[in-house]
Amino acid sequence: MAGEVQCHWSAWFRAHCTEYEKAPSDFKQAAWMVAHNQGLDELCRRQAGITAMFKEEQNQFKVSRKGGLTISGKPDLITLEEGGLTTVYDVKTGAPRHSDLIQVMLYMLLLPYGSPLYRGKSLKGCVVYRNAESSDIPAAAVDTEFQQRVTYFLDLLSAEKPPRRSPSHSECRYCELTSADCPERLADDVPDLPDTELPF
Ligand code: SF4
Repeated sequence: MAGEVQCHWSAWFRAHCTEYEKAPSDFKQAAWMVAHNQGLDELCRRQAGITAMFKEEQNQFKVSRKGGLTISGKPDLITLEEGGLTTVYDVKTGAPRHSDLIQVMLYMLLLPYGSPLYRGKSLKGCVVYRNAESSDIPAAAVDTEFQQRVTYFLDLLSAEKPPRRSPSHSECRYCELTSADCPERLADDVPDLPDTELPF
């Protein structure tokens, strides 16, 4: 939805096939997990004046569309305050990206359907960066227009006809699909671009 990934085939495939072999994780992903866990722990310690907090596995939810598409999620942290104010947090270790905000907005949209605890509530959101300012998301950001955009992309994922693959070295190297499922997967090594001298 954020336009940061151009190969929609990957998302379409994962929406239609849940049993697939994932590309192996590397040491960078292990380091990411440690940094993420530390960021989440620090965020939890900073919370004050709340009545309850729920972390990761406690926040797992699953919703389904007519036609069979299932969407699941697991926000990093949800806090409840006196008076019912509820905030959904996600911790990011990298540089801020539009997709970080959209991920939390999707949680804000879907959690009221996926968990009785949040039914009928409007939720606030916040993306917490380890190396940048946090981004607050007001409840009003998840409006009818946002829901319509989500519907558009869910329709793409639900479609029987797959979208085209758009292989590129920068996306394939981070894609969790292997060449067994995606024959167009490109090798991790990024070839040097030919440097052609302009004639003017
Ligand atoms: S491996 Fe590359 S081409 Fe295949 S689905 Fe992933 S991003 Fe697309």
